[in-house]
Amino acid sequence: MLIVKRYTVCIVGTKGLDDFPPFYRPQFAVYSAIEHQRLQTQFNVCIFAAMKNIVLFGPPGAGKGTQSAHIVEEFGLFHLSTGDIFRSNIKGGTELGILAKGFMDRGELVPDAVTIQMLESEAGKHPGQGYIFDGFPRTSAQAASLDAFLDAKGQQIDAMIALEVPEPELRDRLAGRAETSGRPDDANPEVIQNRIDVYNAETAPVAEHYRAQDKFQGVDGVGSIEEIFIRISEVLNSLGTTA
Ligand code: ADP
Repeated sequence: MLIVKRYTVCIVGTKGLDDFPPFYRPQFAVYSAIEHQRLQTQFNVCIFAAMKNIVLFGPPGAGKGTQSAHIVEEFGLFHLSTGDIFRSNIKGGTELGILAKGFMDRGELVPDAVTIQMLESEAGKHPGQGYIFDGFPRTSAQAASLDAFLDAKGQQIDAMIALEVPEPELRDRLAGRAETSGRPDDANPEVIQNRIDVYNAETAPVAEHYRAQDKFQGVDGVGSIEEIFIRISEVLNSLGTTA
């Protein structure tokens, strides 16, 4: 399988533009993973993924975190998982963590104002790379604020990739994950049910926000990790090469 990566090339250091083969001189270039490595070792360049902003969407247990890791690896986007950020705040005993923990343990959403502010602050620390938003937006208010946040930077969401998995499979996956994740919200069937209910009531409608912008892309989330990643890659590769 050949996955063609898309990069912007930014030239740093002592090499002048003329030292580059003509093909690589434009600011935006498309080349394969092998060329990527060759360029990095042969020339003094830093290479960024083309700025695509993706929402990876789906119910709890759909595989957003697992697939995000592969997307980061292959497409070089910056991964922003609100769940991971909350969990690291809980671990660090921060005020934000203490506030979020009660909501998370019950399988409820952390209030919008807190979540939006946290997300924007984290995103602001990693500009210029393109983001994969995992677990955000989860409400219509979060979706509207994300649009405004990106718009102020002259950017936008390029696609919502929605992983589609039937509910019985979600429950099985979460029960399995509980054995290794150490997450209290995976260990309790009532909390799992609440997360699925909250997803159906508050989060699923967010898909309409992106459907209305013609950015919704449903992907079958059942199969092996690699099969699902190939489906996602096809969507990402279809998004064009420039920011
Ligand atoms: P999953 O998708 O498997 O439920 P996450 O790690 O994305 O796991 O989220 C875990 C919990 O963190 C959620 O149940 C919720 O309490 C909180 N959370 C994560 N993202 C958001 C968000 N965007 N808005 C509000 N709460 C959130």
